[in-house]
Amino acid sequence: MPIIPRSPRPSTRAAPAVPPPRTLLITLGGTGVPYLLKTSARARRVRLVIRPATGLEVVVPCGVGAGDVEHVLREKAAWITATLARMAERVIAPPPLAEGRVLSYLGQPLRLALRGGAPPGKFRAVLGKGTLTLMVATPAEETVRAALEAWYRRQARAIFAECVERCNLAYGFSYARIAIKDQKSRWGSCSRKGNLNFNWRLLLAPSSVLEYVVYHELAHLREPNHSPRFWAVVERACPAYREHRRWLKQHGHELGF
Ligand SMILES: [Zn+2]
Repeated sequence: MPIIPRSPRPSTRAAPAVPPPRTLLITLGGTGVPYLLKTSARARRVRLVIRPATGLEVVVPCGVGAGDVEHVLREKAAWITATLARMAERVIAPPPLAEGRVLSYLGQPLRLALRGGAPPGKFRAVLGKGTLTLMVATPAEETVRAALEAWYRRQARAIFAECVERCNLAYGFSYARIAIKDQKSRWGSCSRKGNLNFNWRLLLAPSSVLEYVVYHELAHLREPNHSPRFWAVVERACPAYREHRRWLKQHGHELGF
């Protein structure tokens, strides 16, 4: 029996042009809901994504009309409004930084206990099993926040120094300085001089995720890009890096207090 090759896509017809993403508005349950409409040549069906940072995104295959999109959005209206409401609640009103608030530390819950008695502008912190006791001048939320952030940064200096040294056993690269930064959406960076920078907020993530970022920045000492060669260097020491990268994408915005 002759083997019939699968006919390739006709090459005479140009691929359909993919229109650029655009922001549209639909009214669902009496509320205007903006969404980003993205056309993808690879999409097979209409896909809805809701992320706190970007809101509602609708990814559609080429050739899907505005009417089809609206139909899908109306069908999924209950899910869309409930998910957006839940996210808004979390983003707008995190619980106050007060006695008993549970934070995250290296992926483990850490209960905050507040004590008075510190001089203004100073604090003392004692890390116990599952509890962080913080002595502050006043329990005002901003005072507690400043003290907590200073404490996380101080811990970050020690933890990243240890983690870089340990993770680099797999590589044996040479690096310059390690610095702790506060960037809203950047987890780490590696300068051309070989300085490694890390975001203190990673201390709220599971330690395996923090380690992945360390491997990632160490790998940049060899490959200052995100080429397949770079990812091979990461994978050599951190085989589950895809999982950790996905976790950061999904939960990165939650790393704060
Ligand atoms: Zn990178």
